[in-house]
Amino acid sequence: MEILAYAERAVDLVNTEIPGADQDSLRSEQDLRRLLPATWTVSHKAAEDGLRELRAVRPRLRRIFEQAAAGHGRSAVQAVNKLLVDFPASLSISDHDDDGWHMHLADAESGPARRFVTGAALGLAYTIAERGPERLGVCEATRCRAVFVDTTTNSSRRYCSDRCATRANVAAYRARKRAGVGGGARA
Ligand SMILES: [Zn+2]
Ligand SMILES: [Zn+2]
Repeated sequence: MEILAYAERAVDLVNTEIPGADQDSLRSEQDLRRLLPATWTVSHKAAEDGLRELRAVRPRLRRIFEQAAAGHGRSAVQAVNKLLVDFPASLSISDHDDDGWHMHLADAESGPARRFVTGAALGLAYTIAERGPERLGVCEATRCRAVFVDTTTNSSRRYCSDRCATRANVAAYRARKRAGVGGGARA
């Protein structure tokens, strides 16, 4: 896995909750297992601890996206640097299960949550270092605050999904139409 792509872990974790919409899809052990890579073996105890840890770090990750999206790149970078201190990578190369040589970012003993967040932190750090903090975004559609990493070539992404983009376009079209009707009545 390319390290830049690990930033998607941060996206996936943050988007388990939409603040203000009372939506939270990280409440149970099953939710946690859905979030973690399918190949990870996680005991019941580790899943319970992991759930708590991931829920605790989630607002911290959201804040990074919100700061970056609001143009406060330097604050976002400071927050990522703190995250890197709290979730330090412990790099090693492995070929367990005849998988071929690949990089491990954290010790398996550190538990699934720490492993997951270590990858997320490294992914965010690489994204900012190679592409800039403005690549971290928050969806601009009404009533959606889902986050995303903008991988478009011209850094033009504004919405978390096609669904939100369509919704926003329809709303803008209706607003223009209303404005157009009003203008016509005055003429
Ligand atoms: Zn491995
Ligand atoms: Zn959205």
